[in-house]
Amino acid sequence: MHNLIYTVSRIKEILNADARLVDEQAVINYIVTDSRSVLVPENSLFFALSSHRNGHEFIKDAYSKSIRNFVVTEKKYVSQYQDCNFILVNDALTALQKLATAHRNQFDLETIGITGSNGKTIVKEWLYQLLATDYSIVRSPKSYNSQIGVPLSVWQIDTHDTLGIFEAGISAVNEMETLAEIIQPQIGILTNIGEAHAEGFSSKKEKLTEKLKLFKETALFIYSPDYVEGINSEYLPGKRKFSWSGIQGADLRIITVKPVKGNCRLQAIFEDKEIACTLPFNDKASIEDGIICWATLLALGYAPAEADLRLQKLTPVSMRLELKNGINQCSVIDDSYSADISSLAIALDFLNQQNQHPKKTVILSELFETGKNDLDLYTEIADLLAQKKVTRLIGIGSHIAEYASLFKFETQFFEDTHAFIEAFPALQFNHETILVKGARRFEFGRISKLLTQKIHDTVLEIDLNAMAANLQFYRSKIQPGVKVMAMVKAFSYGSGSFEIANLLQFHKVDYLAVAYADEGIALRKAGISLPIMVMSPEESAFEAIIEHQLEPEIYSLEIFNSFLNAISEHQVEYPIHVKIDSGMHRLGFDENDIEELSDVLKEEKRIKVQSIFSHLVASGEAEHDGFTQQQIDKFKRISSQLDNVLGYKPILHISNTSGISRWPDAQMDLVRLGIGLYGFDSALTDNRGLQTTMVLKTTVTQVKVLAAGETVGYSRRGVLTNGGKIATVKIGYADGYSRAFGNGVGNMIVNGHLVPTIGSICMDMTMLDVTGVDVKPGDEAIVFNQEHNIMELAKQINTIPYEILTNISQRVKRVYFYE
Ligand SMILES: *Cc1c(COP(=O)(O)O)cnc(C)c1O
Repeated sequence: MHNLIYTVSRIKEILNADARLVDEQAVINYIVTDSRSVLVPENSLFFALSSHRNGHEFIKDAYSKSIRNFVVTEKKYVSQYQDCNFILVNDALTALQKLATAHRNQFDLETIGITGSNGKTIVKEWLYQLLATDYSIVRSPKSYNSQIGVPLSVWQIDTHDTLGIFEAGISAVNEMETLAEIIQPQIGILTNIGEAHAEGFSSKKEKLTEKLKLFKETALFIYSPDYVEGINSEYLPGKRKFSWSGIQGADLRIITVKPVKGNCRLQAIFEDKEIACTLPFNDKASIEDGIICWATLLALGYAPAEADLRLQKLTPVSMRLELKNGINQCSVIDDSYSADISSLAIALDFLNQQNQHPKKTVILSELFETGKNDLDLYTEIADLLAQKKVTRLIGIGSHIAEYASLFKFETQFFEDTHAFIEAFPALQFNHETILVKGARRFEFGRISKLLTQKIHDTVLEIDLNAMAANLQFYRSKIQPGVKVMAMVKAFSYGSGSFEIANLLQFHKVDYLAVAYADEGIALRKAGISLPIMVMSPEESAFEAIIEHQLEPEIYSLEIFNSFLNAISEHQVEYPIHVKIDSGMHRLGFDENDIEELSDVLKEEKRIKVQSIFSHLVASGEAEHDGFTQQQIDKFKRISSQLDNVLGYKPILHISNTSGISRWPDAQMDLVRLGIGLYGFDSALTDNRGLQTTMVLKTTVTQVKVLAAGETVGYSRRGVLTNGGKIATVKIGYADGYSRAFGNGVGNMIVNGHLVPTIGSICMDMTMLDVTGVDVKPGDEAIVFNQEHNIMELAKQINTIPYEILTNISQRVKRVYFYE
């Protein structure tokens, strides 16, 4: 939100578009591109953008959330919603960009534009940390750097801002010019250039040329010559250039990079003098991002000593929200990103998405928002919290308490974090979702520690964004209109239950499927309202199934009859799913059962065949394609036989993950997406389209140096012939780390080194051979991650990723991340 007033008729003028306005004076402060994230509907303008899905499909949802102002390309909505303002454009994205450009043009704002393959967001956030004392800064929220993200970022510019820092990211040629026009940077920063193929360009040169377009009009260009190789310097942008590099002739010539105890000491030549600075990081990526910030400060005229002072105080940028299990059945969302309004809005969206508890508490410190007066700030916060149906606010800090009367729900206030901690034993936290969000100086880490269960030091981290991206990946492969059933059986393949289901519900999948009734009931109790299919409905659970509106798979006449006995006389059209055995020979009706089944179905009005389905046994394997085709044919034959009897059209489905990838003609009405959601697909030749969703980590408990000939573990199976060093880590077969990984079959990453197991895997522990590696107790050991991936682990012990995932025991804590 900003101070400039735009009426909807003013926006119509800016866009030079046709419109049907019923309230010309409606004031627009917010732009909405996702109907799930609405802050203040009455002052919002919804753009029906079309990317993966046609944005017009969400007008209904936006309308139901009280939005009355729309930018659309399809005329038919105008007559459908008589009480709304409609602006009609040819292309909604172009219109959004045009509006942002017009907004930008009203300000003579000093602006830094950042692009490059990696580090854009970190550099942007660090420059914000480094320059916040001197400027009132507006910046891209998180990594809003796309064709949509950039206009949304620029739309935030307000009259009191004195510096803008915006990032721009592109994935194809001809995209940067538009972003450059919207951002209009005077200062340009190129972070780096990675491999071309990873970003959708045919060559490095093409990519670089496109990226440099952001800087065409800049007065100052900050870059490393190492990343602009092949471009003649006279073609580089920027009236003035400032380069950093290890090579001779750079304006900031780095001469040494020396790690010291978690920090990094840098020395360089600048204006013929030797200067130095210390970065509070020592990993490769952070060092490069730190050098870019150093170069920027120097280029902007900061004295080297001042730059050093500021750089030493950089803090890590975490844009991830963490969702953890809390005390007393609470869920705790820990947000350590930054304490400003736009990130609060993002956190509240996530709070709403994870709606496992009706009670929602926000623990909030004073926010740091430059240039806004406190009354405006806290009024906006109070509106936001009310919009998002927060039931309790715990405010920490003396300022926020002054505005207590603005919050029209339960509130409690504490002078500081210490006062809260003192009072903690008397406070009630029970069956609720708690968002913990505080400015850094309030040290809210102490609060979330009190609220969360102790983390046993083996943790499965689940990246919810990656899962959403994988869902999107498969959506892009299916034809319009085909529904998606997400398979969340077996704790969502080990990843969690309601956390994943809530994410999927938020992303509007059509159906969920679980194996057993218990799993479905747990989802209902956590607020999942999507239809849920139960694949192995036990007779003893029929009552509970009906009570919780779960939909059983019916795979035999016996189970069908006992289900009919369980439902009441008065029931109408209870949804069931008929499973056909087309070749798996596990569960399902055979072809010769169909006549009898048809006879029962014809008479029975109490039930409705919601879907008919079957399962492919080898959809991912080319050698069995003939059999798969037979399965598909057989399924079609049997289902049409049933169809004829029913007189209505049930949903037909047969494809699992690799079926989606390899059998586009077998999508029918719905696809059942399982392992692909979690990041694996045996049918893809490379998994580049999919993202890693899970990382399993454990901790080193003890390190021992052993002499030649000593043995390790039970039955003396591990032998250190030449002596060496071992580390014991806190994961064993009871956690799901199979015994088959013992004796060097499996390995883990410790401090960047891949080290083998030694000796047998124990119930709760594993020993690793860390000879030659610098390790101490407390260090992290990675069991699997993106590089050391589950596919590899599965191969090591001759199994499949499914088993590795679902074996991870419930005692391993799950932590969910969301950006
Ligand atoms: C588990 C399961 C799926 C999902 O299979 P993936 O290979 O994980 O996509 C689909 N259908 C049925 C019946 C299943 O049991």
